[in-house]
Amino acid sequence: MKITFPHMGNVYIAVEAFLRGLGHEPVTPPPSSRRTLELGSFHSPAEVCLPFKIALGNMLEGMAQGAEAVLMIGGWGPCRLGYYAEIQRLLLQALGREVEFITLEVPRRPYAPYAANLRKLIAPTRFSSLARGAGLSWAKLKAVEELEGLALKVRPREMRPGAATEYLQEQLERLRAAETAAEVEELRQAARRDLPQLAGRERNQPLRLGIVGEIYTVVEPFANLRLEERLGYLGVEVVRTISLVEWVTNHIFKKAAGLSSLAPLRRLAAGYLRGFIGGHGLESIARSVALARQNLDGIIHILPLSCMPEIVARGILPGLSREQGIPVLSLVVDEHTAEAGFQTRLEAFVDLVGRRVGSLGHRQSSVSRS
Ligand code: SF4
Repeated sequence: MKITFPHMGNVYIAVEAFLRGLGHEPVTPPPSSRRTLELGSFHSPAEVCLPFKIALGNMLEGMAQGAEAVLMIGGWGPCRLGYYAEIQRLLLQALGREVEFITLEVPRRPYAPYAANLRKLIAPTRFSSLARGAGLSWAKLKAVEELEGLALKVRPREMRPGAATEYLQEQLERLRAAETAAEVEELRQAARRDLPQLAGRERNQPLRLGIVGEIYTVVEPFANLRLEERLGYLGVEVVRTISLVEWVTNHIFKKAAGLSSLAPLRRLAAGYLRGFIGGHGLESIARSVALARQNLDGIIHILPLSCMPEIVARGILPGLSREQGIPVLSLVVDEHTAEAGFQTRLEAFVDLVGRRVGSLGHRQSSVSRS
């Protein structure tokens, strides 16, 4: 079956390997763009969040490339992700698009619908091929994160601006083409060796800013207007608090096995938020406390307009900033976000944090909000 799926950063590299292992033909949509967003927004209810619109645009672009099926993740809990897939399926149906919709989510009783979905995916597969595809996909996902993490460290220190991003793009293309776990491992070794060499030695210690927020917006460069790159070019080392490898481990493997626990996050967020509020709302608060304890210079909180869990987090962050003594900038994005204004706000925040670190030499509270 020809299967398309929404983008989420460079995760498509792992998804392609997974689908090939299952005996399907992946139809990867073009990278998310203004056109994707316009297409998705045109067919979406106006009030849904940005990730829904971009994902719908990806699906329509993938179908225009010949996809017969759409693969989407589902979920349950207080945020809207739980009904994304169903609404998108109905919207495509209303547009007269004949497409199979396969939603992957952690099962809850009754199990029959999940089993039917799984059967659609694994029907043409031999177990050996499935295991090889899943293994290669997992290796690629881990490699994507490692390469991106190395680039985050090098970008603010690079001798030639743009060198780390160029290297990263080339290696990601190779990673996409890799057919064995051994090739993936070679690429990881090469990146560990080559990327640090792009950094200048005499460069001062850059500012370190942590990023928290809604997972899709944090991970998808089109949705966050290439936030990590912009910060890197402003001389900032970005510290990620969201890992897709960790997300898959906690939300799929551990949850399915009944081993997932929110206790560590609850402990960190104690005094600010008592429990799960959907999406990454609890994580945003807990990780912000952790970043303050790690003495980072500041935090950027990014969220799509009308994102329910992150609106709650946004209301808590000013108090957290004061009490933990760490500057926080909340950035809200939607289809109307203008690049110039976004860049100006980043530059102003980086300037503020730089002055604070340089002149005060100790932590004080400072909050900037959109
Ligand atoms: S976390 Fe926010 S942006 Fe993401 S699906 Fe839920 S409501 Fe939408």
